[in-house]
Amino acid sequence: MKITDVEAIIVRQPEISLIGDGTQDSVIILVHTDEGITGIAEVDSAPFLVKAAIEMPDSHSACRGLKNILLGENPLDIERLWNKMYHYSYYQGRGGVVMHAISGIDMALWDIMGKALHRPVSQLIGGSCREKIPAYISILMPETEEEVKKLVDYHMVQGYSGIKFGWGSLGQDPKRDIALIRAAREALGSEKKLMIDIAMGWDDYKIALNTCHAFEEYNVFWVEEPFCVERKADFSKLRSETALNITAGEELCHVDEFDTYIREGCVDILQPDMSRCGGLTAARKIRDLACRSGIPIIPHNFKSGLLMSATLQFIAALPNALYLEYCGQETVLSRQLIAEPIQVKDGWVSIPDSPGFGVELNWETVEKYRVS
Ligand code: MG
Repeated sequence: MKITDVEAIIVRQPEISLIGDGTQDSVIILVHTDEGITGIAEVDSAPFLVKAAIEMPDSHSACRGLKNILLGENPLDIERLWNKMYHYSYYQGRGGVVMHAISGIDMALWDIMGKALHRPVSQLIGGSCREKIPAYISILMPETEEEVKKLVDYHMVQGYSGIKFGWGSLGQDPKRDIALIRAAREALGSEKKLMIDIAMGWDDYKIALNTCHAFEEYNVFWVEEPFCVERKADFSKLRSETALNITAGEELCHVDEFDTYIREGCVDILQPDMSRCGGLTAARKIRDLACRSGIPIIPHNFKSGLLMSATLQFIAALPNALYLEYCGQETVLSRQLIAEPIQVKDGWVSIPDSPGFGVELNWETVEKYRVS
């Protein structure tokens, strides 16, 4: 089998403001082969830069476009092709957008292998540990306590294990943050999990520590990305000084970064994003590191059903999985980019067991929202 083309299709919902909600746009990767099998994946990144990393003409041997690197290659040689992409994108890559683009292509290659072998991807990356996973709902933090209560009531009827509020106004005013979290806990009751994603919003360490101590009263299960991810010493310090779990991972781009986070005791739970960390090829290595260190993994997953389908295959083969992050933004792209949306039932999501990632694109949605 040979790779004949690599496409990057950008979709965008024009009615969502420029600020966006995380599902305003997406970039879909298609890897075509001469045997009629096409691998599909989605990247949660800067769409036009991902497309450029794939389609750019070669400059020289350390600065090649990812598509040019792959044309004519056997798509089943995934590890070799991952290393080839990494090696020949030395100048423009090593992290960030280029690693995101490599991640998307890597996932599409795993989808091809699954389809070629008539197996779900989970069976190719270690075999199944589970057939379903409990989900938590992940939503943006609104401005007021009333809105927080409304959102808890609206979402939690689905039976989710918990709710995560993130981004929005969090991290700017400790008093308001504490009031919003108090409102969330009151609406949620005592049993369900409550998580907070500060989205790297805290600059001042003392404010971070004091706010975490205040959150302890409301039994917050984790505080996510309290600081910019480069502040590893502050992550480990905060972790040692609060009873709350500290989490991160969605911004990390290489196995080595996860290794450092584990060795330096930065987090209680790791949250790699399949479309940023290096794809499933890197995620398997991160899984092995985390398992050896007793650190659970809850992948970052805040895009459409297409990224979720890859995330679910990883979770299926993940011994130390706890939950699926289920994106609470009910937009056309988040819900209708794949032909048969992945549903939550009584708070659980069943993992597709068809070949590859087990989903197909909804081409009507793709063509309607396609911008490039
Ligand atoms: Mg986050």
